[in-house]
Amino acid sequence: MTDGTLVQDFGADPIATRETDHYQKEYIEGFVDKWDELIDWEARAESEGRFFIDILKARDKKKVLDAAAGTGFHSIQLLKAGFDVTTVDGSAEMLGKAFENGRRRNLVLNTVHADWRWLNKDVHGKFDAIICLGNSFTHLFDEHDRRRALAEFYAALKWDGILIIDQRNYDSILDGDFSTKHKYYYCGDQVVAEPEHVDDGLARFRYAFPDGAVYHLNMFPLRKAYTRKLLTDVGFKKVKTYGDFQETYQENDPDFFVHVAEKL
Ligand code: SAM
Repeated sequence: MTDGTLVQDFGADPIATRETDHYQKEYIEGFVDKWDELIDWEARAESEGRFFIDILKARDKKKVLDAAAGTGFHSIQLLKAGFDVTTVDGSAEMLGKAFENGRRRNLVLNTVHADWRWLNKDVHGKFDAIICLGNSFTHLFDEHDRRRALAEFYAALKWDGILIIDQRNYDSILDGDFSTKHKYYYCGDQVVAEPEHVDDGLARFRYAFPDGAVYHLNMFPLRKAYTRKLLTDVGFKKVKTYGDFQETYQENDPDFFVHVAEKL
């Protein structure tokens, strides 16, 4: 949470910190501000291309919920492309940053502060599509929380709605195939993101900034097949997984997977 705290607190034993709620303490002000300063939104938009917009348009989806808004990148891209967007995050401070980023571009974001696990308590109405991007789902450490969040997403979608959810390729990291050519795809060339500790229950990443500042994120290493199974378990009929935005890929190659889960 960007509550003005300048130092991340992972406790005495950082690799023992494996809690869903800890994300609030990881996105502290310095980290989030630095990230936003260094990540060139134009370059990121270029690297993603029209991938998400094309998927949504091809299925005639207009009303979109951005469930993990962060500082607002996707909400803003989609608003600019003419979609009706609701911007959600579990961190009120992140939502504030997203709103401010929108305002600077003359856009007014419709923000709702909500945790995915209780999404439908705070977000009303049904959506054509939900996006949960930027390796956000990885913050849930408990299987029960993952199932619950996906069930909430499912319930917030119209009968023919779709969920677009992405994740880092943790299989390649867990299986020892991680190489430094794999950079967090929107880190640009300024931030070096590398795994510092990996086991079946934790991927602890280190983010080094050009000014010497170092931050960490503790994440749950989702295997691709496991995420796909969770999506079908909660009721999605079709799940298609892209690797670095491509339909065909070698399993270990992609840095990121994007799952497009459809109710119909
Ligand atoms: N989508 C953003 C992007 O691509 O730039 C990235 C967001 S950041 C990696 C992950 C976001 O997920 C954070 O803003 C965090 O507050 C939010 N988040 C994590 N767990 C959450 C939860 N259980 N409910 C709601 N938001 C959550």
